[in-house]
Amino acid sequence: MNRQIGYLLAVAVAAAFPFIAPNAFFVHLGQLFAYTAIAVIGLNLLLGLSGQMSLGHGGFYALGAYGSAILATSLGWPLGISMLAGVAVALLAGMLVGIIALRTRGLYLAMATLAFGFIVEIAAQRWVGLTGGTMGLFGVPQLDFGDFARGPTYFFWVAAGLLLLAQILSDYIFDSSLGRRLRAIKESESFARTIGLNVPVWRTVIFAVSAGLAGLAGVLFAHQSGFISSDAFSIRLTIGLLIATVIGGLGRSYGPLFGAAILIGIAETIASLHQIGLMLYGLILLAVLLVFPEGAIGLVERLFGRMRMGKQTMVPARAEQGRAGVTAQALDTAPDRRTAPDLAPAVETARTGGRLEIENITKSYAGVVALRDVSLVVEPGSVHALIGPNGAGKSTFINVVAGLYRANSGTIRLDGADITSLPAHRRARLGLARTFQNLQLIQGVSVLDNVMLGLAPTRSLAADLGAWLIGGTHEAPEQAEALAILEFLGISHVANLHPKDLAYGHRKLVELARAIAQRPRIMLLDEPVAGLNTQEAREIARVVGLLRDRGTSILLVEHNMEFVMGISDQVTVLDFGNRIAVGTPAEVQRNPEVIRAYLGVHEEAA
Ligand code: ADP
Ligand code: MG
Repeated sequence: MNRQIGYLLAVAVAAAFPFIAPNAFFVHLGQLFAYTAIAVIGLNLLLGLSGQMSLGHGGFYALGAYGSAILATSLGWPLGISMLAGVAVALLAGMLVGIIALRTRGLYLAMATLAFGFIVEIAAQRWVGLTGGTMGLFGVPQLDFGDFARGPTYFFWVAAGLLLLAQILSDYIFDSSLGRRLRAIKESESFARTIGLNVPVWRTVIFAVSAGLAGLAGVLFAHQSGFISSDAFSIRLTIGLLIATVIGGLGRSYGPLFGAAILIGIAETIASLHQIGLMLYGLILLAVLLVFPEGAIGLVERLFGRMRMGKQTMVPARAEQGRAGVTAQALDTAPDRRTAPDLAPAVETARTGGRLEIENITKSYAGVVALRDVSLVVEPGSVHALIGPNGAGKSTFINVVAGLYRANSGTIRLDGADITSLPAHRRARLGLARTFQNLQLIQGVSVLDNVMLGLAPTRSLAADLGAWLIGGTHEAPEQAEALAILEFLGISHVANLHPKDLAYGHRKLVELARAIAQRPRIMLLDEPVAGLNTQEAREIARVVGLLRDRGTSILLVEHNMEFVMGISDQVTVLDFGNRIAVGTPAEVQRNPEVIRAYLGVHEEAA
């Protein structure tokens, strides 16, 4: 309920502010703060949540400003419509830039967006007939609702109201499955694809939303003073927004409010030092990154750390019973839990296993043939192990099946349907879930959130937003289900911890839990016991057995021959990309070629 009270408080403060502000200048600063914060919120969603860099946000801001100003001034459109159109222009531009930039990451994305920002800036300067260039556009209508004297107050209320809406939108994104998924994309795109996310669409949409918010800020700017010139949209603007984002605290929903306030404070202080202003910005940014990289909000959180700790008990009490972990204790209680009534729904209602047929897969990397004509069938509800020494091509095989790598030739069928050319996220939605040899867990969020990443949405976006606004039970069913899966694996006591705080064996189980949450028909496990001790490995074997008993088909990649012999129905052996044997564990163990391949790497296989 705290959040809702916060919003109501914000409404009260915004309503009262023009009357309690000492003078008109403070109202002006309030306006500046409101629309700057809107742009920073947009940048924070893009950079802090989805991990995409933009050095072109000044460009979107400018498009919003010019779009609305030109339509309202030259074409005489009604103010409200012009403003909406201005936002739409920025949104569309954001979508286009987002699509064009899809192939780029990091530094290259920064450069591409920088170029966009410069193009807009230069167009604003040179296209004098349209924009007025450096001389500017005059007579842009102001948001005074026909009451000139009260104009600044009305403008402030509109800007503050829009800021509140933007903040609520941002809070929702941070708090919901949307934020979780954006974080997953930020940490690893290939991982995000394997949990069923259409990464290009997500990246484009968040880019467009972010650009739209920058455009909204620009629209407000244009109608604040009644005059805009191209001078306002230099690279300095983009850098200012970036600084505010970072200073405020990247990737925190309330960071932009701090960042925008600090930015305006700095800008007002150094306004007289125009020549060295940009340099000072740079120094401040550097200082922030060195001294408190979590930004202002990180600092505030640390100061009030103790208060927050007390509130962090969102997981129901039964999780607190906690087990010692993947230990003898967990093994002891295993039989009871097999018949326990409160098993995770995802486990209970597991979809029936699919039949996976892989025929003649060949995959080479620039000359190295990692797989040569490898075929394999996973029968429904069975465990098929793929074993072989290091470098045999096992991970490559999993990646080809999951759709992360494209094979040079060969076909993959799921229940008879050809899925060879389906992208990874479509395969995930058909019921292919996987774990990774080098674990893929999202570091910034709790274990429970990591497991929830695997759950498919059960509500429409509108229903979810509604539930979130009302508060209380938002995502309660998802949390309960994720918790039940963790309980099933005997690690519900770590639900609130972050992955980095877990022992390696527990992290492996969390990844398994997330894959179970996907309700897979086929589970692809890449070296699930590598790096685990015997007891932990036995626990994983137990879980794999239970999943199989519930009908899931499992393709298990292992390096460790001993481990797979106990739980596999079929075993395929790879050596240097070639299938050298296939059969039951007993048959494979007798195979002279297998013995030869394994004797050579005996130490490793142990
Ligand atoms: P395994 O999982 O059985 O240890 P991998 O599939 O990881 O084997 O590797 C098989 C071969 O392919 C190795 O020679 C490895 O060096 C090569 N390889 C794997 N992934 C890549 C890649 N992304 N780029 C180039 N070569 C790769
Ligand atoms: Mg491997």
